[in-house]
Amino acid sequence: MLSRDVARAVNQRRDALGRYLAYGIVRYRLRSVSNLRTVTCPCCGYMTLSDQGYDTCGICRWFDDGLDDGSADEMSCTANDGLTLSQGRELFRSRLTIVNEHSSEYLDEQELLPAKYDIVSRFDRLVSGVAPRLFFDSFSAIQQDLKVLSSRRTKLIRARIAKLKN
Ligand SMILES: [Zn+2]
Repeated sequence: MLSRDVARAVNQRRDALGRYLAYGIVRYRLRSVSNLRTVTCPCCGYMTLSDQGYDTCGICRWFDDGLDDGSADEMSCTANDGLTLSQGRELFRSRLTIVNEHSSEYLDEQELLPAKYDIVSRFDRLVSGVAPRLFFDSFSAIQQDLKVLSSRRTKLIRARIAKLKN
């Protein structure tokens, strides 16, 4: 797939998910919950980032350092293994993470793969379009599962470090 097409697919997701935020009923219900991640990731396109910025995506592991479409071919200097956003998007498309396949972190991501597929497919249902009044419940359930995913990841990392120490 051409990188232009990969970028288009990511932006279709971002647009479709972002569109829900324009609905009053969605905004109203979002207001009642704090710490929801309603910012879309520039790498995978799903709503996984907090609006505080400098956040790492719970699905693809892209660190949001401000690179976006206009700078998609610049090397990320802060994190992301020196990848460009275009390279990150391509990696996400082929294996659902930007994590280097030779790193031990990659094994964790492999273990989390079924849970990630589940989250991605539920996000994709929202991308295909649901009634705005149905958005919030699915979205907040996905957010809950993103939290579970994140704590499972932390446990895997801790277990790996503990093993290294022994
Ligand atoms: Zn992402």
